[in-house]
Amino acid sequence: MTVLINNLVADTPEHEYARKLSAKYEGWNAESILRDVIEHEFAGTIAMTSSFGADAAALLHLVAKIDRTTPVIFLDTDRHFFQTLQYRDELVEQLGLTNLVNLRPALEDVRALDPKNTLFQSDPDACCNFRKTRPLAAVTKDYAAWISGRKRHQASTRANLSVVEYDGRGFKINPLANWTAQDVTDYIRANGLPEHPLVEQGYPSIGCFTCTKPVEAGQDARSGRWAGQDKTECGIHLSVYEDGEGI
Ligand code: SF4
Repeated sequence: MTVLINNLVADTPEHEYARKLSAKYEGWNAESILRDVIEHEFAGTIAMTSSFGADAAALLHLVAKIDRTTPVIFLDTDRHFFQTLQYRDELVEQLGLTNLVNLRPALEDVRALDPKNTLFQSDPDACCNFRKTRPLAAVTKDYAAWISGRKRHQASTRANLSVVEYDGRGFKINPLANWTAQDVTDYIRANGLPEHPLVEQGYPSIGCFTCTKPVEAGQDARSGRWAGQDKTECGIHLSVYEDGEGI
């Protein structure tokens, strides 16, 4: 955790180690980075998150090549498109992933907070909170490091994304940091991976069906998410889940 001492920011040894690892991985390709963090640096205490959205297949394929038992965390909000759930199952089977973890909202929360499944209309932040943030927060302490699909090209705020970060709770590994959108497309096609079926129907960013619309050609990829509302992010505190599509 970054500590304030007399208004000066002091780095912890973990921040220093993240910088050291980022320097080490400078010039490494994504597969080499993943192999080192999965088999060496964070062996046995690393997981990845996946929204099983439009970009997901590339990172899942890379991880499966190294260790199919790597935990893959999926936030099953109970509001996903059925195509996403089918795509998840198809990819898991094709890649031989053996440790898919479906995190679902607590039943008591569903009953107490959203008994009519309409909270996404009246208070989407509260809906995301109990369907995504709380279930994910419950498992963050179980792992020292998280693999993320975030990329520098996705937003100005990610332009300086490091390959390894420390956020005060855990290390975040971004092996695709310097990948472009075309790199992802090329990788998926070169490796014969299936594409999410909604991509060709105009959904470049895919979340819950209640909060996702198709976009016109040339529009921002995320403009179909919570369209017509101020909301642009799900608000998950563990930003590793924000793989460019969010959920
Ligand atoms: S994206 Fe919409 S339906 Fe899904 S958890 Fe957030 S507010 Fe609820």
